[in-house]
Amino acid sequence: MKILIIYTGGTIGMKQDPATGSLVPFDFSQIENEVPELKKFGFRLDTISFDPLIDSSNIQPDFWIRLVNLIGSNHDLYDGFVILHGTDTMSYSASALSFMLENLSKPVVFTGSQLPIGMLRTDGKENLISAIEIAAATKNGLPMVPEVSIFFKNELYRGNRTTKYNVEHFNAFRSFNYPPLAIAGINVKYNTLAIHYPEKDVALICHTQLDTRVGVLKIFPGISEFLLDSVLNTENLRSIVIETFGSGNAPTAPWFLDKIKTAVKRGLIIMNITQCQEGSVDMEKYETGLLLKNIGVIGGYDSTFESAITKLFFLQAKYDDNKLVAQKLLTSFSGEITI
Ligand code: ASP
Repeated sequence: MKILIIYTGGTIGMKQDPATGSLVPFDFSQIENEVPELKKFGFRLDTISFDPLIDSSNIQPDFWIRLVNLIGSNHDLYDGFVILHGTDTMSYSASALSFMLENLSKPVVFTGSQLPIGMLRTDGKENLISAIEIAAATKNGLPMVPEVSIFFKNELYRGNRTTKYNVEHFNAFRSFNYPPLAIAGINVKYNTLAIHYPEKDVALICHTQLDTRVGVLKIFPGISEFLLDSVLNTENLRSIVIETFGSGNAPTAPWFLDKIKTAVKRGLIIMNITQCQEGSVDMEKYETGLLLKNIGVIGGYDSTFESAITKLFFLQAKYDDNKLVAQKLLTSFSGEITI
């Protein structure tokens, strides 16, 4: 068994400088000095650190491409991967990688922590140890969780279903629309019915192109024509994620619908996801949703915002034709939506 730990940055890999009291990253190749428990695993753990380390608020799509290339080039050498990442944008990174690593058949487990590993009450040690255990878990010689996932506190989630929802608590993530893939108590209990197992003998395909020409429109009571115009007419966009009310509803004022309709006619993709954390868009439920559907807005089902954005990046890079992108949005690529 060989697991590769990739440290990209974030709180987990920090400790307090005794002289100044401030948080500084430590040399991750010496992780066993900080977490001596790792020696008990009894299998090979290799580490790679990004240079420079990145606070995850600074992550850009080229970081995901680098990570995908790194996993791709080490894929045959390791049984699983643990990615240590800042929590702020971890759900975006996990979502992006779930699309970019097609036919993944090995575990890629993201984790991080709310308190640095070098602090007394850190949650980082437990998160790291459990993430390694999960990345190494097998049944009948095959990995238990061959997906891009996030482990935090004591739950393992499908990465593209997660959202960071708490800045304070140790359980910082939630997967509102999909059950946990595993729960770590005294034992790690795997929810095998929820885990995706790939077909045998499919080769990993690493997608390393992303097209970021995506905009966002969050609607609210009182939204102005001026704001709507400026978003819809932003230069060089291919799509817009519109965050609507409830089950996918928006105002029915003619000026609002006319502007959306004109944008769709111009070829802009408008993907409708809900502002609610739990539940799915169903544009046929109310007239306020049906009108959007009738003018060509695409329903995003129960997609998270993070998954919607990164799925569009991925699909737009793959297809030049927006009609194809719109069509493919209705497909679940790596379990990101419930159809
Ligand atoms: N700002 C940090 C980051 O996301 C917070 C963390 O590490 O959790 O990189």
